[in-house]
Amino acid sequence: MTRLSGITPSGRVQLGNYLGAIRHWAKGSGDDLYFVSDLHAMTTAYNPARLRSLTTEQLAVLIAAGIPADSVFVQSDLTRELGALTWLLECTCTYGEAGRMIQFKEKAGAKSGKGRTGARLSLLTYPVLMAADILLQGATEVPVGADQVQHVELARALARRFNATYGEVFPIPRAVLPPVAARVRDLSDPSRKMSKSTRDSVGVIFVLDEPDLIRRKIRRAVTDGATETISAEPGNPARAGVTNLVEILAACTASDPDGAVAGIGSYRQLKETVAEAVIETLRPVREGATTLLADPAELGRVRKTGAGRAAERGEHRLSAALRLAGAGQ
Ligand code: ATP
Ligand code: MG
Repeated sequence: MTRLSGITPSGRVQLGNYLGAIRHWAKGSGDDLYFVSDLHAMTTAYNPARLRSLTTEQLAVLIAAGIPADSVFVQSDLTRELGALTWLLECTCTYGEAGRMIQFKEKAGAKSGKGRTGARLSLLTYPVLMAADILLQGATEVPVGADQVQHVELARALARRFNATYGEVFPIPRAVLPPVAARVRDLSDPSRKMSKSTRDSVGVIFVLDEPDLIRRKIRRAVTDGATETISAEPGNPARAGVTNLVEILAACTASDPDGAVAGIGSYRQLKETVAEAVIETLRPVREGATTLLADPAELGRVRKTGAGRAAERGEHRLSAALRLAGAGQ
């Protein structure tokens, strides 16, 4: 069993990414694979220099979080392999299948401003690249949120069809839905979840934020101002801000929400306690990532090792797929 998970460098890594995903990845088995999906960040307008720096930062964070370096790679380091496999899979996928992807329908209209015809073609074909990510590595389990299940189903259909048409090459992957964990919410607008691509970042704690900045952001977090009742009430929108702070504290101190707030008497004290817990939770990751980022030669070496391992792992599947499909010598 090989599990594969990716994170897109659409913004700087935030606390929710760490508490909800990355720290669990660090506890996975040695067969698991994690990658920074920078090619996926190119389906809408982006800045190349910023993409490069976000990619490097994410890689450093994944390694500093404790994921074994040879289980981590950057997607674009396998552009040649993935490009080749994407072509074979595009030749296996129908236009109708790609067009039925709900994310395409949602994003194509919204982002281009001109409807679907103005969207990048890659926004339509991106699920096929995602299928290539999965099938190249022979991944069998793909942990995803509900919004990505349809894309994994497409990868599954393409693997089956390719195998049936040309010969058995790809293990059949399946989507696994991780247990529903509490979503970290935006500190300034707790009606939405914390996200790395949010434009206005006052309510977003980034994993590499300095302690003082974390204190300031948490001090300004929205509460309800009225009752000073220190407890989590999931499902009550009027108390979403306080619930979020309590849940962040519980996640950082590995305790249940009631236990985490025992003895806390005011919102001010709650915020101070949450800030220190977040700072301590992120400290080793921030320090490790900062050290790596200050040593580009070492980070480059680590990156190359991961890419080499990933390319090697996929090589026989790619060459078998090309041969069976009638391409190459
Ligand atoms: P984007 O704004 O680009 O969608 P994001 O911050 O939502 O960025 P994703 O790349 O969509 O991050 O997700 C990466 C991982 O982080 C996924 O496993 C996702 O479930 C998890 N994650 C993202 N945001 C949160 C959050 N607020 N709380 C808990 N987990 C989160
Ligand atoms: Mg997201």
